Amino acid sequence: MENKLVKVGIERCLDYKHEQLKSTVIKTLNYFGGLEKLVNQGDKVLLKVNLLSPKEPEQAVTTHPQLVKVICELVKELGANPIVGDSSGGMTSKGSRTNRAFQISGIQQAAEEAGAEIVNFDEAGSVEMTSQVQGNTYQFYVAQPVIEADVIINLPKLKTHGLTYFTGAVKNMYGVLPGNQKRDLHRKYPDTDEFSRLLSVLYDTVKPDLTIMDGIWSMEGNGPSAGTRKDLGLILASKDGVALDEVACNIIGFRPLQVKTTRMAQALEFGTADLGQISLPDNISKYRVDNFQLPDTRFVEMVPSWLTRAVINQLRTVPQIDSNSCAHCGICQKSCPVDAIKTQRSTNGDKNLYTITPDNCIECYCCHELCPEKAVNIEFRGKLGKLINRLQFFMNFI
Ligand code: SF4
Ligand code: SF4
Repeated sequence: MENKLVKVGIERCLDYKHEQLKSTVIKTLNYFGGLEKLVNQGDKVLLKVNLLSPKEPEQAVTTHPQLVKVICELVKELGANPIVGDSSGGMTSKGSRTNRAFQISGIQQAAEEAGAEIVNFDEAGSVEMTSQVQGNTYQFYVAQPVIEADVIINLPKLKTHGLTYFTGAVKNMYGVLPGNQKRDLHRKYPDTDEFSRLLSVLYDTVKPDLTIMDGIWSMEGNGPSAGTRKDLGLILASKDGVALDEVACNIIGFRPLQVKTTRMAQALEFGTADLGQISLPDNISKYRVDNFQLPDTRFVEMVPSWLTRAVINQLRTVPQIDSNSCAHCGICQKSCPVDAIKTQRSTNGDKNLYTITPDNCIECYCCHELCPEKAVNIEFRGKLGKLINRLQFFMNFI
């Protein structure tokens, strides 16, 4: 029976000190056979990091550079060639933010120290891939280095997410799509169910061979960039990213299959999200945390469907720009897939002022996700939603 279970390794690691981290990663991987079972001498091994935006490691937005360094070292010790890549979200007037994110996150330096190659997916060319799923055709342009890799190691950060509630193994693969494609797919799939299905199809289309999740410094609250760092102290790994996401979500307090990317991936048989079919080093209750703040937006999911229909407009959200925090960079406007963010010059003409037109907004939260100043807040539109949002103590019990 045991060998039919999907294995998810979990180990505790309280910080990113090199030797301790490296031995913890090895122990986590040994739970299901070790890296040597996946990587052969001479292989090109792509490490798909989470490089959402140019943030320092302490902010827990990006995969920690020391974890990237350790994985690069382990790959090199097997005689293979590590390549570290991603495409950040959001554009500026000077183009993509990926190169800057590599520098600020510390990942560039860490990869260079470990002798790895670095690839900016926005500048590396792409290859068309299509997938047929339940009669629908999904078309992606995937960064060339991803296609050319012999082995793909997915390195997500454990974080909450306003739109999908959680970003881990499945969601992290969205970054294999270079540049504005990510924004444009939000426009093409504005419905959250459809977008979550798209994410799970992309995950399966590219299918990483291994996922190692950085849950040492995780993010709680309204992630994936505007939440709060939570020192969870966990490294998780599995060959099945869907199983890994479900385990991580269970640990931080989501209900089984509450996260749509996991639910979709399970329904489409891209992985195993049934905890009864997953083997862990210890009982999952030993890893659980009680006080992890989940994103406010998840409340809509918890209301019964008949009630949701009755109060749907009350529970709809809209992002709002806090003019006191806004630095007038324009990243939100360039990231908006439906041009819902308008500009006007300030009275004295020295800067652009940005406002969101609620009726045009499709609630994709790209602006919230990508604002470098945490100046985009997610608000409920109706009084009922606003009331619930204020009752934070209530949110912690549901
Ligand atoms: S809200 Fe954020 S992303 Fe938009 S202009 Fe202001 S600082 Fe930039
Ligand atoms: S305003 Fe923000 S949440 Fe609304 S569609 Fe534009 S990017 Fe998405």
